[in-house]
Amino acid sequence: MNEQNARKGGISVETEHIFPIIKRWLYSEKDIFLREIVSNATDAITKLKRLESLGEIPATDRDFAVRITVDKTAKTLTVSDNGIGMTAEELERYICNIALSGAVDFIQKYENNDDGKNGIIGHFGLGFYSAFMVSDRVEILTKSYTNAPAVHWICDESGEYEVFDCDKTDGGTDIIMHINDDEAEYLDRTRIEGIVDKYCAFMPEKIYLADADSENVASADPVNETFPIWQKSASECTDEDYLKFYHKVFRDGNDPLFWIHINADYPLNFKGILYFPKIRNEYDSIEGQVKLYYNQVFVSDNIKEVIPEYLLMLKGVLDCPELPLNVSRSYLQNNTYVSKVSAHIVKKVADKLNSIKNNDREKYETVWKGISTFIEYACLRDRKFYDRVKGSILLELTDGSFATLPEYIEDAKETNPGKIYYTTDRSLQTGYISMLEKQGIKVAVMEHIVDTQFASVLESYNSDVKFLRVDSDIAEAVKGDGEAQNNEALVELFRKVSGNESLSVSFQILKDGKIPAILNISEESRRLEEMMRLYGMGEPGASLPTEMTLVVNSGAPLIAKLAEYTENNTDKAEKMAAYIYKLSLLSQKKLSAEEMQSFLADGFDILLML
Ligand code: ADP
Repeated sequence: MNEQNARKGGISVETEHIFPIIKRWLYSEKDIFLREIVSNATDAITKLKRLESLGEIPATDRDFAVRITVDKTAKTLTVSDNGIGMTAEELERYICNIALSGAVDFIQKYENNDDGKNGIIGHFGLGFYSAFMVSDRVEILTKSYTNAPAVHWICDESGEYEVFDCDKTDGGTDIIMHINDDEAEYLDRTRIEGIVDKYCAFMPEKIYLADADSENVASADPVNETFPIWQKSASECTDEDYLKFYHKVFRDGNDPLFWIHINADYPLNFKGILYFPKIRNEYDSIEGQVKLYYNQVFVSDNIKEVIPEYLLMLKGVLDCPELPLNVSRSYLQNNTYVSKVSAHIVKKVADKLNSIKNNDREKYETVWKGISTFIEYACLRDRKFYDRVKGSILLELTDGSFATLPEYIEDAKETNPGKIYYTTDRSLQTGYISMLEKQGIKVAVMEHIVDTQFASVLESYNSDVKFLRVDSDIAEAVKGDGEAQNNEALVELFRKVSGNESLSVSFQILKDGKIPAILNISEESRRLEEMMRLYGMGEPGASLPTEMTLVVNSGAPLIAKLAEYTENNTDKAEKMAAYIYKLSLLSQKKLSAEEMQSFLADGFDILLML
């Protein structure tokens, strides 16, 4: 190469500070150097294209592209573009005179603070210098579109540089990074492919990857997608486009349940696609993944600050050109723009739910099972979200149908006004459920842990609604016809066999004549007990809640028999009463270990009598 007119220089006065720090600092995220260099290259192309389209320079039919070349032998990694290029003056201005004074202050202030790490590079236009995290020496060969002489710049890790004229003939810039021996991994093509795939997959200009050792065979197709679907308007995208994008980016073989394409105008000015993933079972990871981009340059996929924590199971992409490329945690946390973006996302999610519910109820019911837990949790966490989606909250019913709260209440006007019966365990509570169903009462399925908390919240937001578990306070609902007979002897007997002198016993005719007795536990005291258990309060396996009533079905043949025995065979009466009592406990999952033992023993005795 014909190089003359050599000049020497040093990168500003303070380079002795900044270079070692750059090298040391971003240790954990060293890979981003490639993102910085490649995005400068795509920017250079975009700028040149803009000049062409503005008519400032004649248009060419050049194929604009960035080429990344790995050369293991020469130990170089080169990023070339045929973009705008730089004149000697521009190189001096943009590369040699980094605005270090501010950066040095910043570094000194945050050197020991992890949080500052990401901020520094972007805030102070040090992107290019991140190349020194992995290189001993960096060369720039550049020729400006203005036809000014080409320039060759070489800088070592101490910040000492030399500049020459050179005979590069085609416009654009080559950045040649001489990779440090300790960083030889960056000469591995697969490693580079991985980084490009993570950070550059959607950059707006074509990127090719070449391997100098294999005779410079460049990848046949660009390794990136220059016009990702989030940049299009929703009307341009088909379901297939959305699904294809989802499968590719999130490597999830399942289709998502549905998605939201956000295109927020000024002043928020961000775009994105958010998917509700299908979660097959509760063991599936529910950790979502929302990738943050800055003008198609990948920034981060762990952006808890931009998406409210209760929507973190979403997968998707957000492109926020309003955020600096390198954003720090603390910056995001305290940023009003970020909170507005977050609020906008919440609103869009709610709008989407309402629109599916209103326009395609059938589809909504099929996806509801997959999203109910999240929506309920979201409602628990955020009253505003609840207010937005309340019309779209469904109750799944034991008969397989679904109802909104108002629909259920309307339907229950005659049978159970203002009361919503629910089950927390369909198989265990099946007896209770069928008793209610026989009365024409619908039962909601609330088998997930969050469901009961959600029920409490719904009650507090809707003062005229009361949730009752199928085994709570149901004596009234399953009342049969006829007058119940009080029997003091039975009261005493049940108190004796239960070992609970204050057990409350009442008599009623139940709809289902076979059932001898049911335990009626007040909804309030059971919830209190559940809450205490949840928070580890009270003794483990502690006593039964106080507000418990044994409702004896005086119409049941077994009770008639029991009444007879109380008069002439106390022994048998006690055995029978104990067994009936334990059966009622059993359907409440209330048997202690000893009670279970004696329940089984009693069962064997009874079988012997047959
Ligand atoms: P930033 O990109 O944040 O401005 P950098 O240190 O990465 O900071 O780059 C400084 C400047 O150098 C860029 O703004 C651009 O003007 C110039 N530059 C860097 N790389 C190229 C390139 N490949 N082609 C043309 N100009 C470039």
